[in-house]
Order: sequence, then C-alpha cells, then structure tokens
Amino acid sequence: MASRTGLVYSQDMTGHKNIWDSNFPEKPERITDPYRRCSELGLVDRCIQMKAESCRDETVLLGHSEALLEKLKCTVSFSEEALKTVSQEYDSVYFNNETYACSRLALGGTVSLIEDIVDQKITNGMALVRPPGHHAMRDKFCGFSFLNNIAIAAKHAVCNLGLQRVLIVDWDVHHGQATQYMFYDDPRVLYFSIHRYENGQFWPNLRESDYDYIGDGEGESYNINVPLNQIGMADSDYMAIFQQILMPVAYEFCPDVVLISAGYDCALGDYKGEMKVSPAVFAHFTHMLSGLAEGRVCVALEGGYCLKSLSEGVALTLRSLLGDPCPMLPEMGEPCYSVCESIANVIKVLRPYWKCFQYQGCVTGGEDAVLHVLAVNERHPRPNIEFSTDENCPDRYELVATQLDDLQQTMFERQLEDLIENTSLYTPPSR
Ligand SMILES: [Zn+2]
Repeated sequence: MASRTGLVYSQDMTGHKNIWDSNFPEKPERITDPYRRCSELGLVDRCIQMKAESCRDETVLLGHSEALLEKLKCTVSFSEEALKTVSQEYDSVYFNNETYACSRLALGGTVSLIEDIVDQKITNGMALVRPPGHHAMRDKFCGFSFLNNIAIAAKHAVCNLGLQRVLIVDWDVHHGQATQYMFYDDPRVLYFSIHRYENGQFWPNLRESDYDYIGDGEGESYNINVPLNQIGMADSDYMAIFQQILMPVAYEFCPDVVLISAGYDCALGDYKGEMKVSPAVFAHFTHMLSGLAEGRVCVALEGGYCLKSLSEGVALTLRSLLGDPCPMLPEMGEPCYSVCESIANVIKVLRPYWKCFQYQGCVTGGEDAVLHVLAVNERHPRPNIEFSTDENCPDRYELVATQLDDLQQTMFERQLEDLIENTSLYTPPSR
C-alpha cells in the first residue's frame, strides 16, 4: 500500500479566543498560519484531508471526570463576567463561549486520526488542532489546555482499539504533566518528554517533572523526563537526546503506534521557550520516529507561539510525514554540558530497566554514576527551589505574557528568515 498521510484541520477551531486580549499568545492564527504555509508548499493537497468532528462524551470521559466535562459544557452560555471568574479559577487558562465546542473538535480530530491510522486507512497524519491538550488533567484545566487530546488518543488506542504499546513523544517546551499523571503506573503507554525545567524554576514548577520521576508500580521506567536546565538549547542538544535516549528506548519498547505532542515553542524565536531548535530539525525528529511502528505516527499540535517558526516547523513535520527527504541541518556543534548532564542523569535512573543503556559502563564502587566522563548531578532537587503543589497552586504566569525585547526578537526573526530561505526542499527524482 502506498503511504498516505491524513491532515485534520477545521476553521471552526478558531472560535476559541481570549476576549480580553486579542494578542494573547494562544490565538486562532496558531492554526490558520501553519495551514496557510502548508498550502503554499503544496502539502495540503497531497494529504487526505479530514475535517475535525466533535468527539463523543465517552471519549472525553476516557481522560476526564464528568464534573470537568459538565463545567466545560456550562461555559457555552456564560456571560463575560462569569467567563472571567471561571478563567481565574485555573492556572493559565481563558474561556469564551466557543471553548467547549473547539476543545471537542480538537479531541475529536485527534481521536479520528488515530482510528484511521489503526484501521490502515492512512499510514500517518497530523492533527492541526487547538486548544492544546497536554496540561489538561483529569479534573482540572491548566496551561491553555481543556481536554487532553494526545493522552485520550493513547487511552483510546489501548482500551478500545486493541493496541498494546503506545509511545508518546512530547517535544513541547513545557512538561506535559497531565499526560504523565494519566499513565504514571501504566506500562502500556511510554511517555517521553523533553522540556525546559531550569531545575524547577520554569513553569509548571513541579518536582515531578525531573528526570528521577520514572513511573510507578507496573509503570516504573515507562515515564521518561529529560529536563533542560538551561535556555538556548539548540539542534545539537535535541539531536543528542533523540539519539542517546529516545531512539534506543523507543526501539526496545517497540510501540504499535507513535503519538507526538508536537509543541513548537522549543523552536528558534519562540519567546516562551527561549530555545533554538531550527525548523529543519522537526523533519528529522519525525523521520527518526517514522522508523518505528511501521510508520504509524500520529502528530497533534500543542504549543508554539512564534507564528513564523511554528508555521515552518509544522510544514516541515508534515512534509516528513509525506515521505519527502529531510533538509540538511544547519551546522551543529557539540551538545552543551548541561544537556550532557541531563542525558547522563536519565541514563543513570533508567539503566537498570532498559537493556539499551546497559552497554554504558557503570562506575563501580562509590557513587552511583554511570558515565566515566561526567560528574553526574547527584543533587536533586537543587536547594531553595520553590515547587508548585496542590496547596500553593497560584495563577502564576502566562496570562501576562512575557516578551523578548525588540532587539532579540528582530535578531531571531532574521536568523529564522535566513534558515527558511536556505532550507533546500529538493527531492531527488530517483531515490
Ligand atoms: Zn508549551
């Protein structure tokens, strides 16, 4: 069978917007701009186009409580004042009267994508959806997220579609803590997240986002966090994580399907992530993961707030799903010390469970260090870090958006434009 790629999109998902601040980062252009870019590159026409359809209640309840669903449903008829009040009950969310419908479309679209992949109607696909999902907990909205699209798709896959092993790769710059919670003791779903952490000082400021949270009970070793303790991480740092940790574990796990929580807020120019991943790298990520599960890869959009890098990242991801060759990467240096430390720490805690890490020599006697060359950070958590807990969950960040200063923004934009211009999308006539 020729490989076929599904693209889920619907203009209707632009109805959810912040009625108090039209410049709020989680805005409708986050799907319309990438869609336009994919059209310009001729990618949309090459996909099997799927309109996002609203999900059923049972689907929502795979990941959320009835109380949460009811709460979301009620907001359809709320006054502006009541919307404001309910928005303030949660960390970093806003509601309007369309939030409910759009959340159901985003979830419905993601779920129908995985159904079609499992039914072999398509090989792989992308759900260009919003609002995002990976911070939405069973009983709590959080971080721009209302229904957890990817987590529910994974649950649906193992509970209803007969799959045994699902790999979730979350490259959004924020930790998908809600996805972690949903599968923390479940060995059927391996959750792998790379996220900005800064030793706990970055949102959502959770102790459990660190590398030593590896799952519980039967799910032990099936939760993998790669914390990034510095900003400015670039292609070489992310590629090192893929090659040293993710791909070895993924091949050993041997998933039936790969789900990607694709956040582009780790991309160059995104002021929330402050990382420097260039657009071409997303094609390589997708390509590497397409080697698993006979290419059954289901991508759903999460974050990404710099429209330019978001659009380019989405387009290059989709292009890779369509089977086009990956563009050459810009020249890479060595991975930085901090990421090597994180990688070594992850290997240190996972080595007892995964054969792929056991070829790494273990330093015997004394400290439980794994690599000879690195002094692995033994002090976790760092002292004097204030973690967020259920008791002190404040409305901490995102409603007041931080911004890069103009000079930095211009510099990143220019760098990004150069990258886009120099990205060769050449396909050899004979491969
Ligand atoms: Zn994010």
